[in-house]
Amino acid sequence: MAETMTTIIPAPRARVQAMMEYHPPLGCRDSLRLDFNENTVACSPKVRETLAGISTGHLTRYPERGPVEAIVAAHLGLAAEQVALTNGVDEAIHVLFETFLEAGDELLLPVPTYTMYEVYASSTDARVVAVQAADDLQFPFERLLAAITPQTKIVAIANPNSPAGSVATRAQLLEIAYRAPHAVLLVDEAYFHFCGETVMDLVGVAPNLVVARTFSKAYGLAGLRLGLLAAPVELMRWMRRVLSPYSVNSLALACLPPALEDAEYLDWYVKEVLAARGEFEAALDAANVRRWPSQANFVLVEIGAKHAEFARRMRDAGVLVRDRSSDPGCDGRVRITIGTREQMRHAIVALNEVLAALRSGC
Ligand code: PMP
Repeated sequence: MAETMTTIIPAPRARVQAMMEYHPPLGCRDSLRLDFNENTVACSPKVRETLAGISTGHLTRYPERGPVEAIVAAHLGLAAEQVALTNGVDEAIHVLFETFLEAGDELLLPVPTYTMYEVYASSTDARVVAVQAADDLQFPFERLLAAITPQTKIVAIANPNSPAGSVATRAQLLEIAYRAPHAVLLVDEAYFHFCGETVMDLVGVAPNLVVARTFSKAYGLAGLRLGLLAAPVELMRWMRRVLSPYSVNSLALACLPPALEDAEYLDWYVKEVLAARGEFEAALDAANVRRWPSQANFVLVEIGAKHAEFARRMRDAGVLVRDRSSDPGCDGRVRITIGTREQMRHAIVALNEVLAALRSGC
């Protein structure tokens, strides 16, 4: 019987069949990690203490996000109902898109930008409308405004944006929110701490503004997977229908209050990165490497045709960097995360050696 049975495999939705599986280039990252814009040192010691004190009994219970959402909301000056914790900003993006995008809708994006917007949009029936930045990779404000149509349902803007670290001003973001009242404006403030500009205070004021933040970058908790959505209650109540009640695990929930309380640690790390960014940019200028002005914890540099070899040789020298050549308009460009001054001095030595070898053709 078994031999004669034809194999029938259930088919996924057509949209899913057309999707690509997204594989971030992780794997063997024991060197200096300047490739994923994470904190390159550690999280707050207060988080470490909390983790050490978690009992096995605590792990037997389902996580309860409500009380921690109230703490985070108070920290942000928002009402508890305006904040939802998520399994990283990635889940926040996923939930937002699943809630609002359907056939005929358009997702408007300035590109290059964070890859996961397109990945999550590709599982919906919406169309992605990408607005290419000019060679300076500055925020393409006027062209983005011109691309708003009655079908625009979400405008997603990472601010600062990746991979260049460019920013949209508060006035520009407000203008977009005002000119597209029928669309949700997502402002993804994953790198907010390194720039200081925010529109979080406008959540609930601008009726279509949604802000996302992550604890993966400055806070050093990428492994715990913690992000948040802040939105007016009228939008949030729809997103809560889509959001899993248990997607933020109890270890992450326990660690969030001490991470927020330890302002001193966060301050130290951010100041260290900003000082290191200044030194690193000066070293790039001295080495005649074109760079884009960045307000985040990374810098995009022009390497040219030997970009892949550059990334490979840097890895051999113990420094991981991220080749962004396949991003739209980024051929030959590599993104380098900024760590501490000590780490970046090590990176500069490696960079100068690798560039010398590439330039001399060795
Ligand atoms: N948004 C932007 C702009 C990012 O660059 C990243 C991570 N690289 C994320 C969101 C993802 O954050 P999380 O780790 O919280 O999912």
